[in-house]
Amino acid sequence: MATTGSGPEIVIVGGGFAGVTAARELTMRGRSSVLLEARDRLGGRTYTADHDGHAMELGGTWVHPLQPNVWAEINRYGVETETFPVLEGLRQAVVSDGHVVDLSDDDVARALDALDQFCAPGTSLFAEPYSGEWGPDPQGLGDRSLREHLETLQVAPELRDWVEGMCSLLAFGPLDQSAATEWFRTYALSGWSAAQALAALSATKLVKGTRELVDSIAAQATLTDIRLNSPVRRVVQNGHQVRVELTNGDTVDARTALITLPMNVLNSVEFEPPLSETKRAASTERHAGAGMKCYVRVKGDIGNVSVLAPEAQAVNWAVTYDHDANGSWLIAFAANPKQLPMSSFDDVDGMQAALQPLLPGVEVDSIIGWDWSNDPLALGTWCIYRPGQLAQVLPDLRSTEGRLFFAGADSATAWRSFIDGAIESGYRGARDIDDYLSAGGQQARSTAGLAQAVGD
Ligand SMILES: Cc1cc2nc3c(=O)[nH]c(=O)nc-3n(C[C@H](O)[C@H](O)[C@H](O)COP(=O)(O)OP(=O)(O)OC[C@H]3O[C@@H](n4cnc5c(N)ncnc54)[C@H](O)[C@@H]3O)c2cc1C
Repeated sequence: MATTGSGPEIVIVGGGFAGVTAARELTMRGRSSVLLEARDRLGGRTYTADHDGHAMELGGTWVHPLQPNVWAEINRYGVETETFPVLEGLRQAVVSDGHVVDLSDDDVARALDALDQFCAPGTSLFAEPYSGEWGPDPQGLGDRSLREHLETLQVAPELRDWVEGMCSLLAFGPLDQSAATEWFRTYALSGWSAAQALAALSATKLVKGTRELVDSIAAQATLTDIRLNSPVRRVVQNGHQVRVELTNGDTVDARTALITLPMNVLNSVEFEPPLSETKRAASTERHAGAGMKCYVRVKGDIGNVSVLAPEAQAVNWAVTYDHDANGSWLIAFAANPKQLPMSSFDDVDGMQAALQPLLPGVEVDSIIGWDWSNDPLALGTWCIYRPGQLAQVLPDLRSTEGRLFFAGADSATAWRSFIDGAIESGYRGARDIDDYLSAGGQQARSTAGLAQAVGD
């Protein structure tokens, strides 16, 4: 069993954007750390994979200037961005009543109006979305699912189906298990504008992939010993330090630890003393994000298309990634993978069947994807709270426990569930740990800083 000699001040568990950002921020503050990442790469739920000459994003992809933290990092490292999907000649459509309905620019404007209408409660519920406060909530919207909220929307059927498709995309999980507040919050963060929300969700990506950004941040974490292939199995606190045990038997001792594990995998690590009941219950219950994103190679040139579909369809969004006469790449999003008539990424017939309602006649050649929901280091996609979890889970999820600090996109203040939120939480985690160590480790304070406003 190997034990670190003089020992770092901080152990960071997890090397996604939250952990890597915290490592760099601690370096900037002169703090030494060890970062333990279970995978053989950094980036966590972002994963740029090289395939067929493309830097394909199997996980997190889109970024936007409305997301202040990730955009600051993009500027800092001069990372190149591009518009995606390509808007020129883009054919937009929605599956409604079993038919593909092409959308004119006016139709899209009407669909955006419907989404504005759907998200209107976000205007008062999240009046200051960057503050981390919400409410008042006299109607109990915090307990409402996206499915329940959809029932209140009175618009033409194809507009309703379009909004439902948007709900499936945002939730990336079953709509009856996903909180309506997730759309209200995203809407508020986007300046209370459906058009801006869509831009923030899916208009801009990094040319060389998220890998370039995470590597740029990691390269400046010079006081951090980054260890890949280092799964943590146990975290023990005693009176004066934290001992982190790896599955290979190695241990690392430090004064504090920053835990950046996804909410859904918190329980896969043993904590001594145990984590709060709320954190454990949240990890057991999980958030609702459990969809499947994959790249699908199809025959022929399908042009630039973007087809949205409501929840009953196995695929809820198909969008062109690349196309020419030799064939095209689509990105397919399925919010409820159990509805997909396919058993694995080798099952081209299953994917072909699932795509027919959106792109009749399309012929599938191959599929590239990553099964995040069955990946034991993620157990889900992006964090979408279930009804009620916002108030019940969020404040505790980010609260300090003794010498343990917590960060991650799943408990961020503003763009929670986004790369931006992971970076925001990395800033906060590093700052709080630096303050704590500067105060002699006496100030094990809660960093919750989140509260529902009075009057709900
Ligand atoms: C399919 C998909 C599409 C997405 N699309 C977008 C998008 O377009 N835009 C956007 O902004 N966001 C998107 N997201 C969300 C975004 O990628 C995540 O919210 C964000 O990257 C999470 O960062 P994190 O550091 O908080 O967590 P993670 O990236 O999950 O990092 C946690 C790390 O902990 C590691 N770990 C787990 N267990 C252990 C252990 N026992 N020991 C050591 N290490 C461990 C994991 O391997 C991982 O590297 C998407 C996510 C998915 C899955």
